[in-house]
Amino acid sequence: MTDVASPPVSPWDLDREALGQLLSDHPKYRVDQVWKGMHEQGLAPSEISTLPKALREEFAQSMAPALTPAARQETADGMTVKRLWELPGGARVESVLMHYPHRSTVCISSQAGCAMACGFCATGQAGFERHLSVGEILEQVIVARNEAAPRRLSNIVFMGMGEPFANYDRVMAATRRIIDDLGIGQRKITVSTVGMVPQMRRFADEGLQVGLAVSLHAANNELRTELVPINKRNPIEDIVDASRQYRENTGRRVSFEWAMIDGTNDRDSDARELVSVAKAARAHVNLIPLNPTPGWPTVGSTPERIRQFAALLEAGGVNVTVRANRGTDIDAACGQLRANHEAKPVTLRRKRS
Ligand code: SAH
Repeated sequence: MTDVASPPVSPWDLDREALGQLLSDHPKYRVDQVWKGMHEQGLAPSEISTLPKALREEFAQSMAPALTPAARQETADGMTVKRLWELPGGARVESVLMHYPHRSTVCISSQAGCAMACGFCATGQAGFERHLSVGEILEQVIVARNEAAPRRLSNIVFMGMGEPFANYDRVMAATRRIIDDLGIGQRKITVSTVGMVPQMRRFADEGLQVGLAVSLHAANNELRTELVPINKRNPIEDIVDASRQYRENTGRRVSFEWAMIDGTNDRDSDARELVSVAKAARAHVNLIPLNPTPGWPTVGSTPERIRQFAALLEAGGVNVTVRANRGTDIDAACGQLRANHEAKPVTLRRKRS
């Protein structure tokens, strides 16, 4: 079992009860005041100007935010903002805020590094450092919400660094806090997994309406094990079965993520295999152009090939969206955080052949 309640590294690691305990020597209304400042206004406790000076100073000493800015990059149009954070102990993680005409989405990290070792993924190439705490996950959302203002932060995707289901208990605790304490709707949150089947089943049984994405990338076990090593223990048949369970329990479809890799998983035969797997799983498919990373020689499919591949899926009766490439001009260092959950539906003119 993961110990969700390990010593706080972020003020947002405290739940309301823990905050109450921390302030048990203070007047009762202080708890409410600090809680509201942190969750409604997105302030660190030491920044809440209505608190007595001595208490603010104490907070500054013992309850400083976990995220220290290490870098910030913004696209020329201001629509994508990527942040690099240094955490207590020195690990670094990224989060990306993406604005769209009618919504703003933040892509957050759940671990520093990742142990899944997917060859095409920059985080996988670098290896695992440590789990993020509940508060470190929440803080990314708080900061993004502050940064988004006056726009309203509407969507959260766990598609940054790390494998959310390898840090399951903390990710679920953070998700519940995002829903309950930050007021973001369950259906506006998506957790993306490499395909850890036991956790997918647990997730399907949580009684939540939170979205589930699975990074499929290949629809036969031989190729998938090459691209996503954990497939050896979590084969496609089991992913399909767990996806159906999620669909039955929640009424929602799983999304299959598919990074389009030139000559590797973008052939007609790959499309045919994907049609049958996606249909069996009742899944929606998101095609993502592969983002080049230093440790992986193969390039992404051409836009033309992506369109053709999408057309093959559609012709086979599968719902598909192609993700626009967001923020690639500021994204050179990380193959992962360019993840762009929101997408325009593909509109295809049927070609007769
Ligand atoms: N570990 C989780 C979430 C993080 S990755 C998962 O595997 O789903 C978020 C998405 O970005 C995943 O679909 C992942 O496969 C994809 N991704 C990683 N590296 C990429 C790259 N170089 N190009 C395109 N997508 C990539």
